Amino acid sequence: MEATPEEQPVSPQRLRLEVRGAVQGVGFRPFVFRLAGELALPGWVLNDARGVFIEVDGPRRTLERFHERIVSERPPHALVQSVEAAWLPPAGFTAFEIRHSSEAGVKTALVLPDLATCPDCLAEVLDPAERRHGYAFTNCTNCGPRFTILYELPYDRPNTTMRGFVLCVECRREYEDPRDRRFHAQPIGCPVCGPVIALWDASGAGLARGDAALAGAAQALSDGRILALKGLGGFHLMCDARDGAAVARLRERKLRLGKPLALMVRDLGQARELCEVSDLAAEHLASVEAPILLLPRRADAPVAAEVAPGNPYLGVMLPSTPLHHLLLNACGFPVVATSGNLSDEPICTNEYRALQRLGSIADVFLVHDRAIERHVDDSVAWIATGRMRLLRRARGFAPLPVTVKRELPVILAVGAHLKNTVALSVGRQVFLSQHIGDLETEEAMSAFERVIVDFQRLYDVQPVAIAHDLHPDYLSTRWALARAGGPRLIGVQHHHAHFVSCLAENGVEGRALGVTWDGTGYGTDGTVWGGEFLLGDATGFERVAHLRPFLLPGGDAAVREPRRAALGLLWEAQGEAALAGPGPGAAGLFADAELKVLGRMLNRGLNCPVTTSMGRLFDAVAAIVGLHPSVTFEGEAAMALEWLADPAERGAYPVDSLSGAAPAGARPPIVLDWEPLLEAVLEDVQRGVPRERISARFHNGLVRAAVAVAGAVGEERVALSGGCFQNRLLTERLAVALEQAGHIVLQHALVPPNDGGVSLGQIVVAAAQLGIEGGD
Ligand SMILES: [Zn+2]
Ligand SMILES: [Zn+2]
Ligand SMILES: [Zn+2]
Repeated sequence: MEATPEEQPVSPQRLRLEVRGAVQGVGFRPFVFRLAGELALPGWVLNDARGVFIEVDGPRRTLERFHERIVSERPPHALVQSVEAAWLPPAGFTAFEIRHSSEAGVKTALVLPDLATCPDCLAEVLDPAERRHGYAFTNCTNCGPRFTILYELPYDRPNTTMRGFVLCVECRREYEDPRDRRFHAQPIGCPVCGPVIALWDASGAGLARGDAALAGAAQALSDGRILALKGLGGFHLMCDARDGAAVARLRERKLRLGKPLALMVRDLGQARELCEVSDLAAEHLASVEAPILLLPRRADAPVAAEVAPGNPYLGVMLPSTPLHHLLLNACGFPVVATSGNLSDEPICTNEYRALQRLGSIADVFLVHDRAIERHVDDSVAWIATGRMRLLRRARGFAPLPVTVKRELPVILAVGAHLKNTVALSVGRQVFLSQHIGDLETEEAMSAFERVIVDFQRLYDVQPVAIAHDLHPDYLSTRWALARAGGPRLIGVQHHHAHFVSCLAENGVEGRALGVTWDGTGYGTDGTVWGGEFLLGDATGFERVAHLRPFLLPGGDAAVREPRRAALGLLWEAQGEAALAGPGPGAAGLFADAELKVLGRMLNRGLNCPVTTSMGRLFDAVAAIVGLHPSVTFEGEAAMALEWLADPAERGAYPVDSLSGAAPAGARPPIVLDWEPLLEAVLEDVQRGVPRERISARFHNGLVRAAVAVAGAVGEERVALSGGCFQNRLLTERLAVALEQAGHIVLQHALVPPNDGGVSLGQIVVAAAQLGIEGGD
């Protein structure tokens, strides 16, 4: 029963609150200051490297109200993980003050990602009466840079790349006024005291500054030139998206031939001219994370064909900083906005390095004098089975952690080889790095090493173990193995990491069936896995089913040439006959001389690794139906096959379930035999069945086969992970079919299903390994 006011103890008490989570740089202290003022409670608030701490004196009842409202009225972007309260004797405070941040304590406060420009700041920038009219670095406690400008915790101006900019009188007044939305907003500035923009030519010679620089950049874009723009987490390369010649030039100079290019549009209205924008999509486009969203393109979209050749989707984002808003407003048309890098190198962050690295790509450079402390690319997402799902996790999301169910030792996971990310566990948090990229170049390897050092420094921890992939040739594995003698090294099988990454993201600790389908992953038997069904959890797995193995003539060369995967299948099914024509088989895909060489390789087993790769099965079928005998990036042929599929086609090719050889003491795995499927594809090709139907029957056949395996295994929970689950048709049809068969389907959302999510799984598997050994 509620006590009456008369019964309440009137003697004052002291309440101490410890607020943990992403609570720094979002106006939490000013919010506490205002709330304490409203309730007339004296005391103090401070940030330290662990979170926000508050003490207030007052009557118990008022203190309870204060506690409740701290939770219920917290600032919009604060991510509160816990609030711990303690009751103490009153301290005799007389006023409420914001105390200076303390450096003490374990660094567990969450670093907030960068937040896209808020509506208040945008309105201000566009209003000629405001002193920040046209100012490219406007922000407040609800928006602006965070992760990209932070040197170290706690998040205070002297610990950011804004520390060299001394606040002018007016900015200082805002910064110190608790009623102002810029009260203690760390990165604020104005045209008088903050960073400025400048336009350079490709040699670094200054062309203009301030408003004139912006106007010059917009003019260059409408003249068909290529602009390198220093943004928030790195450089963008931009050109007029309507101008086919400009886009083609950008592709050629950047050595990015086939991959689709992302677009930036002025606002939601312009996004709707290009794509079908659902309410859910609009919400995410305009969110503080402002990712690139893959949306169905409109037939009449005013965009050059060169932007995303043959692709029914366009990757679209809204401006996320005032600089991008101002530029898009000045030009008025959609622009290509792709990462400022060469091919798949990491994004460039420094203007002088940019001149060297991008000087042969861009005609003009729009730069500024606020340093970027760490690179962060744009995030990429799509909407599938009713929610937004990340394909590349970076700006707006990194470095927010995935919270797991139990305390983990400090472990560093170095990820996979392509789409690399690293991860670090501290307590119950797994901090997943921003997208680093393909570890193929020196630039990428140095970015990888930088992020590892950066993460350990930011959270001030030393790992007890390093988790790595089993593939001996991954540069991330080699980096880990070179540290032998230091922290404990724990190898984690690639698909196990995919599977457990999906479990961890969904907060599942128990047993499940992992459908892990991708292009390439090193198996425990030394072969190339990729069409795997793993039953287990973080502590271990049983490979309960996999595709029937086949040979990949040329190994990695087969990734670039899907027709080689086709030959591998045909060879496995038909032997020598696969090399003979005519027919819809291999003969049509190769010149006679090529076929002779490949036949010799297959006969002798030379450079023909054994694989169960699902990615290569997609490639093979794409090649057989005449799509992309060779590709410019992995997955290109599989994507083309997916887009082709006739959604109305319900037929499904047969896949046989055979019983494989069992390791000693284990039950035999199910081997999914694709041979009947291959025969049906060849027959349909020969009969002239439209490719649209062949593609759909192929997808439907795989869905049916996967559901059959899940039924035979009899596990209720099924997790979908691996790069193949970037295929919308496969993912949506499989998720629906599994649910109809009574399974609970676990999918990725905030962690990518591709190799960008592997580092999370590596951490959890390694922690389980250490736990087993520790007798946990
Ligand atoms: Zn703002
Ligand atoms: Zn100022
Ligand atoms: Zn993978």
